[in-house]
Amino acid sequence: MAKVLVIGAGGVGSVAVHKMAMNSDIFPGIALASRTKSKCDAIAASVKERTGVTIDTYQIDADDVAATTALINEVKPVLVVNLALPYQDLNIMDACLAAGVNYMDTANYEPIDEAKFEYSWQWAYQDKFKQAGLMALLGSGFDPGVTSVFATWLKKHKLDTIRTLDILDCNGGDHGQHFATNFNPEINIREVTAPARHYLNGEWVETPALTIRQQFDFEEVGPKNMYLMYHEELESLAHHLPEIERIRFWMTFGDAYITHLTVLQNVGMTRIDPVIYEGKEIIPLQFLKAVLPEPASLGPTTKGKTNIGDIATGLKDGEEKTFYIYNICDHEDAYRETGNQAVSYTTGVPAMIGAAMMVQGVWSGAGVFNMEQFDPDPYMDMLNKHGLPWQVKELAGPLAF
Ligand code: NDP
Repeated sequence: MAKVLVIGAGGVGSVAVHKMAMNSDIFPGIALASRTKSKCDAIAASVKERTGVTIDTYQIDADDVAATTALINEVKPVLVVNLALPYQDLNIMDACLAAGVNYMDTANYEPIDEAKFEYSWQWAYQDKFKQAGLMALLGSGFDPGVTSVFATWLKKHKLDTIRTLDILDCNGGDHGQHFATNFNPEINIREVTAPARHYLNGEWVETPALTIRQQFDFEEVGPKNMYLMYHEELESLAHHLPEIERIRFWMTFGDAYITHLTVLQNVGMTRIDPVIYEGKEIIPLQFLKAVLPEPASLGPTTKGKTNIGDIATGLKDGEEKTFYIYNICDHEDAYRETGNQAVSYTTGVPAMIGAAMMVQGVWSGAGVFNMEQFDPDPYMDMLNKHGLPWQVKELAGPLAF
């Protein structure tokens, strides 16, 4: 039986496991392990109630490679789906190699003491996975993930070459809280406060965090301010589609979010280096995470929609054309279906689809792969069928800015 082992019982893990259970022809056996077993059990109970499917649950500290290897050997999955935190990526890859099992994740490795987003550490596993005849698929969430598949689909069907690519991530949802993040607060704040970087003619251009802002009118959301940011798929897209002259990533933030974040940063609460508090070392950002709402708790109150997509400009039959491809996802619909809001949903569904590509052998190979290295069509079909339908339209030209 093609069993999968999912590690991580947060919002993303919850959506992925619910969607796998809804597709038990592809996923006849599902196991869920995380640091806190009660969270796995709560997800298992919800899955049972919504789908009738039973999933096995386990406690694991995925930073312990030997214990994770032993768990994989006990569960005997064909694939480990890592939906814990980016800090665990390398340890879980090591455990997969030790146990001889394929690997997949949704976010690239980050060292815990350094907000450094790059694929170098995971790409360094290329030979090990190749020699073991195993496959590692990196970044099957929405961004990274679907945004890279969108780019390859445009290149396959609409453009001969891509000259410029803008990825636009809009969350038009309102959770009714003064300040909260829609996925793990520690990971989210590390990402948002890192310097912005975009790719231009073979070079990386760095600008201070949250300083370049533009307005864009998102369908079914309305006009929003979006900020230039660095995001990990820029690195893999620049690597795998070297023809692209410029790649940028934009994310929307409301004024209240930016104000709160600026204050927290100014007072030192987003620091990731240890400080001594009452004789004990603490990391301010980890303490901040402990007092912020858990993203999973925002599900019942979040209203509105997300709209995430790519705008690509390039040549088709010698003529320059621009296409916009995007998905719109409703927070309340996502909550009704899986008990999680749309940010977890738009990541958990692509995680399920990436896993489906692997367990069915639709995407296969030995080594470490990014999303844009495979045929986008079967993935795009599954997005349409499993809750993230996409649309594509031609624009008059590229973004004016
Ligand atoms: P959460 O913080 O809600 O969940 C993370 C889960 O991992 C928690 O259950 C946590 O356990 C568990 N965990 C943490 N450390 C360990 C460990 N050492 N061993 C075992 N389990 C551990 O995060 P999300 O669900 O929001 O995000 C999950 C992943 O998805 C992250 O890597 C995030 O970066 C990524 N992501 C990717 C996106 C994309 O579009 N590509 C978008 C959004 C998220 P505990 O409950 O005990 O803390």
